[in-house]
Amino acid sequence: MTKYNCQSCGKKNAAVAIIYGLPLGNILPEMEKRGEIELGGCCVSGDDPNRACKACGYKWTADKKYKAGKKVLSFR
Ligand SMILES: [Zn+2]
Repeated sequence: MTKYNCQSCGKKNAAVAIIYGLPLGNILPEMEKRGEIELGGCCVSGDDPNRACKACGYKWTADKKYKAGKKVLSFR
């Protein structure tokens, strides 16, 4: 799984994707045990963070950058 640099503590490859939804089978819980992802539960509000730092516990939404980029594009 892809790992990310933490936006809070700056540690490289310390953050993982947060997966929402009910885990089907044992694959996702096993990946969480290995520290490859974080399970965010089955309740999605639409404004949930999708990156979690394993080093400092900071969580953030990586999509905000993408949305901001789209906004810039629509301006042209
Ligand atoms: Zn961190």
